Amino acid sequence: MLSEFDLIARFFTRPLRPGSAAALGVGDDCALLAPLTNRQLAISTDMLVEGRHFFPGADPRLLGHKSLAVNLSDLAAMGARPLAFTLALALPAADEAWLAPFAQGMLALADSLDCELVGGDTTKGPLTVSITVFGELPPGMALRRAAARPGDDIWVSGTLGDARLALAALSGEMALDGESLDVAAPRLHAPTPRVALGLALRGVAHAAIDISDGLVGDLGHILKQSGVGATVDVDALPAGPILACQRPELQRAYCMAGGDDYELCFTASSDRRDDVLAAAQASATPVTRIGVIETATGLRLVDAAGKPCSLSLTSFDHFATP
Ligand code: ADP
Ligand code: MG
Repeated sequence: MLSEFDLIARFFTRPLRPGSAAALGVGDDCALLAPLTNRQLAISTDMLVEGRHFFPGADPRLLGHKSLAVNLSDLAAMGARPLAFTLALALPAADEAWLAPFAQGMLALADSLDCELVGGDTTKGPLTVSITVFGELPPGMALRRAAARPGDDIWVSGTLGDARLALAALSGEMALDGESLDVAAPRLHAPTPRVALGLALRGVAHAAIDISDGLVGDLGHILKQSGVGATVDVDALPAGPILACQRPELQRAYCMAGGDDYELCFTASSDRRDDVLAAAQASATPVTRIGVIETATGLRLVDAAGKPCSLSLTSFDHFATP
């Protein structure tokens, strides 16, 4: 059986990569990051608990990827560039056959975005992965939730709802054929953090948030913190390719309140549409305009003909009573 220190040395200790933001990585009492000239640090923590955020027995490689991806998604939503992260891990056992693919999944994503693993903590306990990411951005350039303005367009990146559809299929809520599940499941298990889009939207977008709990709830945070309201065209929502084959009510419900999308929802002045599209192109990330920010508070849903439509939707809340 591996000791705690063997485990850290074997799976989570690597030489610093060239150009790393870190001056000292794993192995001492602290990691050291070189101070950045005229930059703010963006810091975020997300925790994934077995049985709560992922199925018991989840594929370790995908879990490694997703644990980091959800954290990087928060950096993306602020327009921050990833620098480094720490990993706090509670493990029921030091199982090499689990740790190797977990580390590979996580570090492959980290390397693709030059985000250095610089430290962490390892303990025995129910499987829990808690990551803190550090990113940077020029002062005043963060895409804040409180920055939406009346008249702004509302945009979302990529497509929505296929992650929720996969969850419904995997948890037995509904039936989905194997081929469709093969397309939808990666949206649930291996989300793509929209880091390049977040960076390209600096100086273009006003407010942004990443959609983790569902569009209604997450856009709701922008509206509340900005003191504004919105009208969203439910027929403009970009349903994922598998969800797009389902009945219209399910498409709307999962696009609006599915969760686990890890797309960006952002607002930008309507005279910056060309700049938004240029940012989308530069980051190879499709974007769709879905609505408009208004002075009147609250969220109004309309269909393509502009007719009000009512949907009873709730976004995900860990402490909500059923
Ligand atoms: P300390 O007792 O000083 O907190 P630890 O013994 O917990 O240090 O950890 C030893 C070193 O290994 C530290 O540099 C710590 O940041 C790093 N570390 C521990 N667990 C992990 C992990 N899961 N991933 C990356 N680094 C880790
Ligand atoms: Mg420690």
